[in-house]
Amino acid sequence: MQQFDVVVIGAGPAGSHCAGLLAKAGYQVLLVEQHDSFSQNNYSSAASPLEILEQFDLPHSVVAQFWRKLELVSSAVSHTWESKKSLGVVFDFAKLRQFLADRVEKQSGKVWMGYRYLKYEKISDQTIVYLKKKGEEITAIATQILVDATGYARAVMYPDKNKRQPFFKATGIEYLIEVDQVTHQKYSETLVFFLGYQWSPRGYSWIFPMDQNQLKIGSAWIDAEHKYLKKLKPLRDYTKSIIQDYLKLDQYKLIEIHGSALEYSSGLDDIYYQENIVAIGDAVSTVNFLGGEGIRHGMKGAEIAFSHIDHYLQNQTSTFVKYETEMKKIFTEKWNFSEKINRKVYLDYSDQKIDLGVSYLKYLKLEDVMDILFNYKFDKMYRGIYPYLLKKFTQLSVFLQKWLGRSQSNL
Ligand SMILES: Cc1cc2nc3c(=O)[nH]c(=O)nc-3n(C[C@H](O)[C@H](O)[C@H](O)COP(=O)(O)OP(=O)(O)OC[C@H]3O[C@@H](n4cnc5c(N)ncnc54)[C@H](O)[C@@H]3O)c2cc1C
Repeated sequence: MQQFDVVVIGAGPAGSHCAGLLAKAGYQVLLVEQHDSFSQNNYSSAASPLEILEQFDLPHSVVAQFWRKLELVSSAVSHTWESKKSLGVVFDFAKLRQFLADRVEKQSGKVWMGYRYLKYEKISDQTIVYLKKKGEEITAIATQILVDATGYARAVMYPDKNKRQPFFKATGIEYLIEVDQVTHQKYSETLVFFLGYQWSPRGYSWIFPMDQNQLKIGSAWIDAEHKYLKKLKPLRDYTKSIIQDYLKLDQYKLIEIHGSALEYSSGLDDIYYQENIVAIGDAVSTVNFLGGEGIRHGMKGAEIAFSHIDHYLQNQTSTFVKYETEMKKIFTEKWNFSEKINRKVYLDYSDQKIDLGVSYLKYLKLEDVMDILFNYKFDKMYRGIYPYLLKKFTQLSVFLQKWLGRSQSNL
């Protein structure tokens, strides 16, 4: 039976990054992915702020497009913020994961594509992992550490789907389309986010630019009841409406439709470890539920897990309790607040309230919007209220002056 120091299940950004770091540190690592290729589950819109490239040493070859503008559109209001320099990237998600998996192999780790994790069992002091490749016999391998990086599936930590706690769920769907050059040019440097009942009730929709005249048009919503909206169209109808009614595209080439679920544990109440088994990435809710950004955070969590796995394998610790503590220290406060805002805006707000929110977000500077969206600094939201109120006050006093002037002349 083949023996490894660490077996990582799931070659998403978190699993592959963790496996790469462990391989670089000299451990015998196996990274296992159920799909034969990364184009089979190319589900993520994969937008990130620019710092992700440097933070995780990622090359430009995995970037489909750089963006420098942000646009927010609600039913009645819209606004664009613009920078001269690039603010972020949209990855080609398949290329990103291929690059990360290749990095594991470059560091002499092993990557097994097309192998599905079935179960593990403990036999004396060994952890035996069972994997199945289509059309082949079950393979058993032994490992010192087993990592659950299977995303929302949490296949290792929660083997019985019926025994899972209730998660806070969201569903996303995305159309990858090829458009004419003029349309592509118009959106090639912009992330457009849609809020509100017309474009995206119970969540948000988006237009993200890709290379080769392609755009990603998507919608995601929370799988929970809305305070006011009881009957909605199917999710994909909102995506199609952005293509037809917002972009007004009669002709485009549909390249693929993909989508996926996200399952988030409220209060980060996930299982982070069980003896020598460790969970990372979306398997411990590193995805931020405000905007569904998860690549950067999954990779950050993977780095934290790496250092604790390293200590464990060097016999400097016999438990992962400190891993959970460190993760919670970094994520809990901001993630709890993001979830709160998510529930309010996506499930409780009327359309008018969303329009009103966008109206005063217009008064924020680009740096503040970036800080709110990507660093979850929600205190910055209030910076828009004062200019907004000042403008409203000025409008009101102009109106009153005119009105009073008219009233006086009538006397
Ligand atoms: C529609 C949508 C749009 C998104 N857009 C963005 C965005 O713009 N920016 C951003 O940062 N994040 C985005 N996200 C979130 C982001 O993609 C995830 O948070 C991130 O991919 C999580 O990484 P991960 O490695 O933890 O898990 P995943 O990427 O989910 O990877 C888990 C891997 O485990 C494999 N696996 C599962 N079960 C098994 C098994 N039994 N055996 C073997 N392998 C298994 C899966 O096939 C998968 O490859 C989006 C998510 C969705 C659904």
